[in-house]
Parts: sequence; structure tokens; C-alpha cells
Amino acid sequence: MDIIDLRSDTVTQPTPAMREAMAKAIVGDDVYGEDPTVNRLQEIASELTGKEAALYVVSGTMGNVAATLAHTQRGDEMICGLKSHIYRNEQGAMAALAGVQARPLEEEYDGTLDIQKIESAIQISDDHHPITRVVAIENSHNICGGVPISPAYIESLGKLTLQYGLRLHLDGARLFNAAAALGVSAKDLVGPADSVSICLSKGLCAPVGSVLCGDAEFIHRARRARKVLGGGMRQAGVLAAAGIIALTDMPARLVVDHQNATLLAKSLAALPGISLERNSASTNMVYFQLDEDVAYSGHEVSSSLKQEGVLLDLVSTRGFRAVTHYEINSDMIEHTVQVLNQVIAS
Ligand SMILES: *Cc1c(COP(=O)(O)O)cnc(C)c1O
Repeated sequence: MDIIDLRSDTVTQPTPAMREAMAKAIVGDDVYGEDPTVNRLQEIASELTGKEAALYVVSGTMGNVAATLAHTQRGDEMICGLKSHIYRNEQGAMAALAGVQARPLEEEYDGTLDIQKIESAIQISDDHHPITRVVAIENSHNICGGVPISPAYIESLGKLTLQYGLRLHLDGARLFNAAAALGVSAKDLVGPADSVSICLSKGLCAPVGSVLCGDAEFIHRARRARKVLGGGMRQAGVLAAAGIIALTDMPARLVVDHQNATLLAKSLAALPGISLERNSASTNMVYFQLDEDVAYSGHEVSSSLKQEGVLLDLVSTRGFRAVTHYEINSDMIEHTVQVLNQVIAS
């Protein structure tokens, strides 16, 4: 059997349809705004999110950083989750590149930030205080188990940010996974947001890129930010062509990944020595721990699995993440469970 790579959905390769579209893409210099394929991708992204405009960026990190630069001034504060990518996994970019201070709040069990805790964290006007400018939410929330966050929550958060004149940024790296799991459209999840960043290169299989969406004025500022971050690409239509397929054809099949995650979670739950973490298989992720009575460390289990051709993401000393995606089918899930069972029982 081929390698079963469950480390992340980022490992997905461009599909044959993507490679064909990439080869045939009509391109131009996107720094002049003249790449018709990039422009088409941006139009599609703005239609799907119901936002006025969109910008093709190199990565999800660049989408979040460009959004931060576009929303804030130096010395502003951003309320975000303690376990969010924007806080934990971007080298402190909001501080390092935008001069913005994080005000991290601990997520609730369901990946949301408690609305009352957010309200209490908003700075009152005082010369001592930074100015609270942005609230950032992640959907689906990766570290909270890939949990999708409901339109109802986003709506109530939107009321709060509107009331206090704050910007609402959604890190929607896996927004389409959240939408598929909740049975709603992407648009239903981003209504009150001032900006949303969506990865094309994860479960949607594009080789490169994210789209950042918002109103025209915001996108104008984000475009300047993208340029200073080194993200002004030239004939980027070669890549955007795959992004178009990512946005139009790929979201509909994410339910298959979620079914495979559910199959994995159910099978793991039945294995002695394994405990599932919260929210597992609510989208395409399964987090689990090795129980104390398992004689091997996470690292040992990880290497033994690797020898058998199964790759998992080791996230803590005894904790793993498995992510289902386009290149994983139910046979591979069954094989993974068998191999894991053998490894921990041996
Ligand atoms: C992957 C990810 C990002 C960053 O995307 P890159 O393309 O890896 O820079 C941002 N937020 C979340 C929640 C992610 O999972």
C-alpha cells in the first residue's frame, strides 16, 4: 500500500484537473492587476463569501498578517484565541510585523470565545491603554479539534464588534470544512465579518495560496500590505487556475473527508490504549492520546507507524492528530487502525 499520510490536509497534491487548468491558464502581471485568472479567482472568492472584493495571497499566514496590517495601527490590540493559529503559529507576526499586541482569551470547549469575556476584554478609552481594534476567530478551529463554529455564534459576535466599532477577522483556513460539517454555505458563516482568509492549499487541494476577502477599501490596504510582505506575484494565474477549481469543485466533496474522520474516530474509540480528544471528527480532524498503560512514547509509536507507511502528526508527548483529505479513503483508514493496534499491543 502507498504511504498513508494523515499528518495534514496540506499534503494534498493538485488534482489532474488542476494540473490541466494550470497548464492552460491565461496569465498576465498580477502586480499590475492584469492576470485574468487571478482576477477570476478573486471574483469567485468574493461571490462565495458575499464580500465586495478579494485578494489572492501566498499563504494563510500572509492572509492573516495582511488583514492585521490592513485593520490596525501600531499599538492596537487584537483579541484572539489562546489556541488560535494567529496567536500560536505565526511567529508573533501581529507583534513582529504589525506592532499589534495580542489579547489572548482561552477558547471554550466548542472553539468559540465567550462573548462576555470578549466584551470585558475590550479596553475602555484611557491614555494608558492600547486601543482594542480587532477580534479574530478561527473556523474551523484546528487545535480545538477542527470544530466548526456556527453561524449563530458568528452573528452574535458580529453584533458585539459592531456595537464597539471593532473589526471582526475570521481565520477561515478551513472555512469550507466548517460549512460542509454544518450544512451551510460559506457565506452563512462570514456575514458579519469584516475580513475572512481561506486556504486553498489544504483540504481544497490547490498547490499554493489563500484568498482574503472583505470590502474594497480593506482589500486595497491589504493589497499594499501583501506587496510589502513580498507577496506581489507576477504571472500567478498559473497557480490561481488551481485555486479556481479548489473553490468551485472541491468544497462539495469535503463531506467524504468528514465521513472518513468519523470512521477513524469510531475505530480508534474501540481500541484499548487510545483516548479520543474533544470534538474529534467534527470536521476532518481526529486528535487522540495514548493512555498511560501504553508502554511506548508518542515518538516511538510515531516511528513504528512510519515504518509501516502510516504518518501521523505528533502534537504532544503522547498526543496525535490525524487529518483526512482527498488522498485518503476508507480502506486506508481501516489499515491505519490495524497498524496502530498492532504497534501499541506489541
Ligand atoms: C494552515 C493555517 C493557517 C496558515 O496557512 P499557511 O498557508 O500554512 O500559512 C492559518 N490558520 C489556520 C487555522 C491554519 O490551519
